[in-house]
Amino acid sequence: MKNEVTYRGVAINDGSTIDKLKEQATDKEANLFFSLCENNNDFIEVERFKEIIFNSGLQQSDDRLESLFNKLHNHKNNISFEDFLSIIRTSPLLVQKSLRGELAIPDFQDFSQNMDKIYEKVKPNTSGELASYIPPLKEVDPEQFGIAIVTIDGQVYQRGESNVDFSIQSMVKPFNYCIALEKLGLEKVSNHVSAEPSGRQFDDLTLMTRNMGGSSLKPNDRVPFNPMVNAGAIMTTGLINPEDTPTERLQYIREEFGRLIGWFKPKNASYYRGQKIEKKSNIDMPRFNKNVARQENFTGYNNIATGFLLMATGNLPHSGTEIEEDKHKDSEYEFDFHVEPGVTNALKLYFSLCSLEMTAKDIAMAAATLANSGVCPVTQDRVLSQRTVRSCLPVMQMAGMYNGSGEFFQDIGLPAKSGVGGGIFLVVPQLMGICIFSPRLDLVGNSIRGLEVAKEITERYLVHLFDGTMTDTKRIDPRLPIARWRANNCAEAIWAASNGSIRTLERLVSSQRNLEVGDYDRRTPLHLASAEGHIEVVNFLLNEGVKPIPDRWGGYPISDAKNNDHKEIVDIFSKLDIEYTEPLHYIEDPNGNSDEFAVYENESLVIELLFAAAENDVNGIRQLVAQGVPVHAGDYDSRTALHLAAAEGSLDAVKYLVSHGHPLYVRDRWGATPLDEAKREKRDSVNVFLTELMK
Ligand code: GLN
Repeated sequence: MKNEVTYRGVAINDGSTIDKLKEQATDKEANLFFSLCENNNDFIEVERFKEIIFNSGLQQSDDRLESLFNKLHNHKNNISFEDFLSIIRTSPLLVQKSLRGELAIPDFQDFSQNMDKIYEKVKPNTSGELASYIPPLKEVDPEQFGIAIVTIDGQVYQRGESNVDFSIQSMVKPFNYCIALEKLGLEKVSNHVSAEPSGRQFDDLTLMTRNMGGSSLKPNDRVPFNPMVNAGAIMTTGLINPEDTPTERLQYIREEFGRLIGWFKPKNASYYRGQKIEKKSNIDMPRFNKNVARQENFTGYNNIATGFLLMATGNLPHSGTEIEEDKHKDSEYEFDFHVEPGVTNALKLYFSLCSLEMTAKDIAMAAATLANSGVCPVTQDRVLSQRTVRSCLPVMQMAGMYNGSGEFFQDIGLPAKSGVGGGIFLVVPQLMGICIFSPRLDLVGNSIRGLEVAKEITERYLVHLFDGTMTDTKRIDPRLPIARWRANNCAEAIWAASNGSIRTLERLVSSQRNLEVGDYDRRTPLHLASAEGHIEVVNFLLNEGVKPIPDRWGGYPISDAKNNDHKEIVDIFSKLDIEYTEPLHYIEDPNGNSDEFAVYENESLVIELLFAAAENDVNGIRQLVAQGVPVHAGDYDSRTALHLAAAEGSLDAVKYLVSHGHPLYVRDRWGATPLDEAKREKRDSVNVFLTELMK
């Protein structure tokens, strides 16, 4: 290759020298820039830079990135190293995190593709019925289906009708509870509403009696079971600013709710809660649908009864209005019928709150704020205290899904809340908020597609709160880049077998890890132990019930032992009742050129790199290069990223690796070069590309 400048042992074909890179920047910054240069360039294209940021899940509309996009907008097409430094040094850390794959869901592209698959799979399910108790809900388009996901770093996934306003209904309940907790604290709130599963319909009139079990509470202390059933929600609504008018209270709650979804007070109020407001929010507060509120009122006798019942317990705050003097002193029978305004106001506010409208995207953002312990991911506004969030999520978990809550939690394992408007939101603590909107409901009132999406997500991803109790190599951990998740399932065991470390293997067995899992070449611990002659490891693995299986080339561990003259190991395998096939390797010119691969100390990052290369995951490769992993690092079989990319026909990965200085004549354990691999696996485009380079 022409005029090479090497950096960390690999070549960058550019005009600037590595000394220049190092003088001006930290290693971390230099690695990052190097990782972003493509096609042998010593600059980054502006459009490509933006694309990489969007691929990480961040959005153009994200307030935190406004200044970055302004800079890029005014920038000439190519970003030189100097420009790059000035751009990232004046941007929030978020930008570097996104480029390095360090956001909450590092592999957002893979995640989004999986969500698309789930969406397509669930879409044909048209079972269930619309809510019919009020006309506006009966009239919505039943076909609508949207999914929105927001991570705690503000990465956004949207699909289908995720920007359509719908009636949030009961989904408002946890937020009311949070706002009441913020105002009064858990101790006071729990004097008014408990946190027990009710096991009853959401609109059941039964209250919980708390004087059982000889506690010192006053007799007949009746409270709603929890804030997720109507009684509890009317109670928490009643607790929020009872001294204010219903209009002020509704406005207050809309604003608080707005802050949860990234709204902030518009400019004309230049100061809001001590903070200077510089600009107008591009997010709207939840919309109030007065017609729905009126309909709720006209038909809501059950809720009205609940309100009066709560007033009878003495636990619903009074309005403070005095009972007026008898205006009918002179009449024998007539008197003014008095209803304490505390109850009508609480009901009016409750109906109003059920009638707020939001999009799935908005609600996913509010859910992400809960996942983020009360700080809105995009505004960084602390809306709720950590304690409030921690008090609310368990109640959602126990009672958020009506009388399907217990089984829902058992299956899905996440706090969630649904509403009869067809929405369901879920909170994955410290990771993301999810909202699904699809208006057809099951018998208890949960969105059918919503439930199915939730189920699909937990079937694919390790997000159930108790997944920590399982060793599951089939489901993906979304907190890791996909290649690292794959590497985690096998790398440690294979390296340990290759190094003869029985101790490590024992530890892996005791944590119930599957030692039969192979890598990108289906090489397993048993192959490597056999190749390296670790007879004690071979015995250990066989005793643990591990079975010999063939690798990519059809080779069993016995072949590894034979090729490397480990006769005793050959004997062990010969005694097993297995028909072994011989491996088929292809090496065109065993005596041709040969390049060195790099030995890199962080072994599992090497495996991650090779997985990324095999999957044509250029993002994954780039992020590893940004972390300083040499592109030509070799594994326990001297396989490199280029071998894997070639064997799998991953042309983009091949191009990226080569343009970042990956040598072409590296040879694996058997002597094969990447080009040999492309030929053996009949990867024509890679074959053509490499042959051209090697001329
Ligand atoms: N407005 C509805 C009610 O109070 C809310 C019901 C719901 O979504 N579960 O009955």
